[in-house]
Amino acid sequence: MSGRAPRFPLSLDRISSSPASATRRTAAPAARTAADAPAGVGLDSSGVRQRMVQRLRAGGVRHEAVLAAFAAVPRHHFVDTALVPQAYEDTALPIGHAQTISKPSVVARMLELLFDGRNAAAGGSLGRVLEIGTGCGYQAALLARLSRQVVSIERLRALHDKARELLASQPRDNVRLVYGDGRMGHPPNAPYDTIIAAAGGEALPDAWLDQLAVGGRLVAPLRAIGGGQVLVVVDRDERGLRRQAHEAVQFVPLQSGVF
Ligand code: SAH
Repeated sequence: MSGRAPRFPLSLDRISSSPASATRRTAAPAARTAADAPAGVGLDSSGVRQRMVQRLRAGGVRHEAVLAAFAAVPRHHFVDTALVPQAYEDTALPIGHAQTISKPSVVARMLELLFDGRNAAAGGSLGRVLEIGTGCGYQAALLARLSRQVVSIERLRALHDKARELLASQPRDNVRLVYGDGRMGHPPNAPYDTIIAAAGGEALPDAWLDQLAVGGRLVAPLRAIGGGQVLVVVDRDERGLRRQAHEAVQFVPLQSGVF
């Protein structure tokens, strides 16, 4: 081994996890190259991602574009340095501010549900997407590869800033990050072909349903009768809204206001 011997921990001067970093948008994105970070923990980043994709496939994920997005987006770039070794396990991981990045199998399930609702005319794209709960931006990076345009809203300023910093290193410019209360949706870009929420409340906000295009589909966690949460799917057609409940899930709460 020469030159690029594995280093651990990753060089902290190069990979900042601080959203308040004064040098955001300059130093951090350049530092997060695919070659750098995985070498630091002895991971072959794309190999490890491929194994995650194989596990998703074995778990029943069939949509090739969804699997390709998981193979392409470096999840380890979106978590703190100490969590990099776990980045490709099928677990939710903390992203600070009492929030979590959802586990890959759940994200894949939601993306497949969104695709199931798209008709052939959509040409294999999720179209115009509204994401509620940007978090660290990982799911937004996946969505960017699967859709025409992504509008992603986050109510915590620190996470909104962090996602902006992290997404700057991604080779897509079709993501618009909005700081605000996602319960209102984002009227300026409505209607949306697909809406996906990463936080669950007691009820689906009217704004989401109002901003869903005819032919569109929404997927969100929702408080279940008797406690817990379930994944719900809402479709809008010319006659109105149709709702189905799916399996139990565990998402962070949908909260009100900005912070
Ligand atoms: N998709 C994210 C997961 C984030 S966890 C990722 O890939 O990292 C859910 C996020 O929803 C949290 O960041 C939380 O702050 C945010 N959230 C909760 N209520 C919200 C609201 N009303 N509007 C916007 N974001 C909200």
